[in-house]
Amino acid sequence: MTGERGTLVADGAHARTPLMRQYVAAKQEHPDAFLFFRLGDFYEMFFDDAVRGAQLLGLTLTSRNKQDPDPVPMCGIPWHQRDAYTARLLKLGFKVAICDQLEDPAQAKGLVQRGVTEVLTPGSVTGESFLEGAANNYLAALWPRPDRLGVCLADASTGEMKLAECAWPEAAALLSRTRVAEWVVPEPVEDAVAPRLEAALAGLPGARTRVPAARYLGAATPPPRWSEQVADRNADLPLALAAAAAALDYLSRTQGAPALQMTRVDRWSEDAILRYDAATARHLELFAPQPGGEPAHTLWHHLNLAVTAGGSRRLRAWLERPLATRADVLARQQAVAAWLAGTARGSFREALRGMPDLERLSARIACAKATPRELGALRDGLARLPEIAEGLSQNDAFAEVVEALAVPPALAIRLRTALVDEPPVSSKDGEVIREGFDELRDSLHALAHSGKRWIAELEASERERSGIPSLKVGYNKVFGYYLEITNAHRDKVPADYERRQTLTNAERYVTPALKARESEVLGAEDKLRAREHELFVGLREEAGCHVAALQAAADALARLDAEATLAEAAARYEWTRPVLEDSDRLLAEGVRHPVVERLLPRGEFVANDVRLDARERQIVLLTGPNMGGKSTYLRQVALLVLLAQAGSWVPAAKATIGLVDRLFTRVGAADRLGAGQSTFMVEMRETADILMSSTARSLVLLDEIGRGTATYDGLALAWAVTEHLHDASGPRPRTIFATHYHELTQLAEKLPRLVNAHVTVKEWGDGVVFLHRVAEGPADRSYGIHVARLAGLPPSVIERARVVLAELESERTVEELERAPKRARREAPVPLPLFDAAPPAEHPLAAELRTLAPDSMTPLEALQLLAEWKRRFGA
Ligand code: ADP
Repeated sequence: MTGERGTLVADGAHARTPLMRQYVAAKQEHPDAFLFFRLGDFYEMFFDDAVRGAQLLGLTLTSRNKQDPDPVPMCGIPWHQRDAYTARLLKLGFKVAICDQLEDPAQAKGLVQRGVTEVLTPGSVTGESFLEGAANNYLAALWPRPDRLGVCLADASTGEMKLAECAWPEAAALLSRTRVAEWVVPEPVEDAVAPRLEAALAGLPGARTRVPAARYLGAATPPPRWSEQVADRNADLPLALAAAAAALDYLSRTQGAPALQMTRVDRWSEDAILRYDAATARHLELFAPQPGGEPAHTLWHHLNLAVTAGGSRRLRAWLERPLATRADVLARQQAVAAWLAGTARGSFREALRGMPDLERLSARIACAKATPRELGALRDGLARLPEIAEGLSQNDAFAEVVEALAVPPALAIRLRTALVDEPPVSSKDGEVIREGFDELRDSLHALAHSGKRWIAELEASERERSGIPSLKVGYNKVFGYYLEITNAHRDKVPADYERRQTLTNAERYVTPALKARESEVLGAEDKLRAREHELFVGLREEAGCHVAALQAAADALARLDAEATLAEAAARYEWTRPVLEDSDRLLAEGVRHPVVERLLPRGEFVANDVRLDARERQIVLLTGPNMGGKSTYLRQVALLVLLAQAGSWVPAAKATIGLVDRLFTRVGAADRLGAGQSTFMVEMRETADILMSSTARSLVLLDEIGRGTATYDGLALAWAVTEHLHDASGPRPRTIFATHYHELTQLAEKLPRLVNAHVTVKEWGDGVVFLHRVAEGPADRSYGIHVARLAGLPPSVIERARVVLAELESERTVEELERAPKRARREAPVPLPLFDAAPPAEHPLAAELRTLAPDSMTPLEALQLLAEWKRRFGA
């Protein structure tokens, strides 16, 4: 969903009252945002905003001037729930403009002044209540030119910025690889590039924001905050720099002054990473479950054992961009190994618990948005760093990071002496600064305090003087401090009392002495609040000078947490360290699917081997019935490689992996049907991409291609695609192809680097047992008929189906077949040792099973089945 909003349909006709004119003026400045208009204790929405807002937020729609023949639709939220409702709209991809009262309504003469103080957009917010801790929140500014696209990703909440440029054919894939909350595109876009931009953005989630093209660098003068260093270092990416200028401009406009700082600017290179697209991430359920699935079905759910939000974000980034060079993977593996070796992991993770999000705090400080409570959190976090560093210093492996954790103690000390134990959210209401930090603040505090004490004591002394035991001192906003006397005692009121207010059964008075003290107290309190605010702002600026050190520490902690998490997962799930090499091999034994394994009872998951190489086993053609475990197998191979190249240990007994540059998966296109493309079209487009973009280092996992069309062209296409992937002149990527086109198994005779494999299944008694074991050789194609029989199809239909099938297979006529004896079973597949470590055929269990099923299975299959029975139902 995009955040585009229609323009407001409020014209002069509606804007009859001054208040509505004020509203319309504010709304016209922000036509694409929901305008939250402060009226007393509520934020109100009007017109279209009210109608849509009520619907999206489940609010009651009313109207402002009900008697009017043409009432104005209205709905509202209590002012203190503003953030919660804003967060919901942002999540849906909308923007919210906050129009506040700019003066105290009690003091205002006439209409209260109002103005938009903040515009909150999905990609520019930094407040914790709007953000997901474990993921970056990216704004992406795009600068499209006729030949290339410039991209700048910016996370205002962490201060990270990434620059990239690409040619148009790669644009869609590049943009789909990162989750973006908001896209900023120029307006107007030239006719020549507009359709390309649209195509690159098609179907991507995130709000869309158009900004004048003049805000891009090169289109106008460079914006002043753009650091020269960054511009110099990235001079070869002029389009990305232009986009960065627009991103910064947009962020500082939405955030209001003071401007935001981007402290970490990186190049977003795709060269040294294992690339995969958003469809693959969805298919593998890396971060989000398939529609209707649960979070526990995702890899992320099981892998994200990080203690801090920063650690989670880092780990997620590693998984989104796995490494593709041996040296890089090795370096990360070494770090993980260090966490596995010693005892440091447990105590480190323990020490991290409750640690604030230093990275996001630093960004809030850098753009002067941090609240007293956030500075308090920083103080508490800083106080824990020395202990964490101390714990790590025992091990040489961490020497470098320990240095980064050494934030100069000055800031910690300053925050400790300046801030009260539990600072409030707002800096405007005082009670932020600790006693003893500032003399002026302390004297104002004493003054306000002593005045208050004097007033409190007044009650006792006046009671005595007047002889009225029920005399009370009170305070309200309109009259200030007063003395209240019930009507029963009216005759005893001292002569110097001046009456101010009459209630039903009491009167309120003041005295000149009380008023004098009152102005002293109130004056002191105002000054105290102002002083505390001033001190707080100074403190925040001071903290701002340490942002670089804070970010270095935050960065180190995030990295350590992510590395320790990989070690934790390895230990918890019994994963092993893979060997990465520069080769075309992929050899692994005992590979499990890290998620399916955890969803099944312990020991139920059947581990499998995988063996691919460019010379003899470039393509494994996997056949077998539905539910046999084909797609689970494909996914576990994909996850094995992704995890390994992210630097993680892997769910396998052992694994040797020739580094993969791109991972392609093609599966049923059901998840894209909503986008209005036909299944077959999507499927063919993705297949075309694989054929054109795969290299000798790629890994291609195909699940059932050609299904979206009539059988024969589907088969023909699958056939041709397989031949193409195998083609000697092509790049020959390592490929596993799961298919229900049994005919393709014949390709093994023709293509030397293609081998057949199948998922084993056994029919037994009244049921079918899926053994989930991947074995060499093609599947027996008659399982469909077995299953149909078990499902209760009449025996006559089953028999007829057998005959027709046999005819199709042998190309003999049905009549011939009907005369011939029952067809012999196909040869049992010869198991390769790597795939099936079976006991010898003379094993007593085999005999046992053979007596039970003399002619319907091979010894190996019988043994597998028996083992399966024993495992499942006990010996
Ligand atoms: P296919 O793709 O052949 O239709 P799936 O891969 O979807 O089959 O597997 C079907 C079900 O079988 C899965 O939901 C899973 O629970 C189970 N399964 C798959 N592979 C294994 C395995 N190796 N061990 C145990 N259960 C498995």
